[in-house]
Amino acid sequence: MNIDLVSIGDIHPGILQQLKDGLEVVFGCPVRIGESIEIPGDAFDRARDQYLSDTLLDRLRQYEHKSKHVLGVTEADIFTHGLNFVFGQADSVNRVALISLNQLRDEHTLEGGDKLLLERSLKEAVHELGHTLGLGHCEDVKCVMHFSNSLVDTDVKGLYFCSRCRPKLIE
Ligand SMILES: [Zn+2]
Ligand SMILES: [Zn+2]
Repeated sequence: MNIDLVSIGDIHPGILQQLKDGLEVVFGCPVRIGESIEIPGDAFDRARDQYLSDTLLDRLRQYEHKSKHVLGVTEADIFTHGLNFVFGQADSVNRVALISLNQLRDEHTLEGGDKLLLERSLKEAVHELGHTLGLGHCEDVKCVMHFSNSLVDTDVKGLYFCSRCRPKLIE
C-alpha cells in the first residue's frame, strides 16, 4: 500500500512531516506529502461555527492522488450530522479519510507541547486509515480501531491494531 498525506488548509509543516514518519513506521509503506488543498468554503456551517466533515471528504475524493490511500489533515473544527464533533472520518470504498487536529488539543497539549498532539493525531490517522483498509470498530480499548468518543479514549488506546484486527486488514 501507499498513502498520500494532504493538508486541507494550513498545517504546521513539522506536524505533517512527523505524521508521515509515524505512518511509515506503523504501516511499513511509503507515505508521500501531496499538494495541499484549501478548506472548502461551502463546508462551513455559520450557525455552528464548524465545518461539515462530509464536504471535506467529498473534496478529497476529487483530489488527484498518486497513492492508493489518501489521508487529509486539517485544523478545521469538523462535525458530522448527529455528532457534535469528530476527530476524523473515512470513506472505505474510495479509500479516502481525514483527521482534524482541532479537537485533539486541550490543556494537556498546551502544557506538553506537540508531542502529545502528535501522538493523538497519529492514533486517529491510523484509525481512519484502518477504515480505508476495511476495518470496523473494535471493542478492545487498547486497539487503535476502538472508537474515540473523547480524548480519554484516544489517550487510552494504542497506536497499533490488535491481534484480531490485524489479520483483517485488506489492502
Ligand atoms: Zn472509526
Ligand atoms: Zn482491534
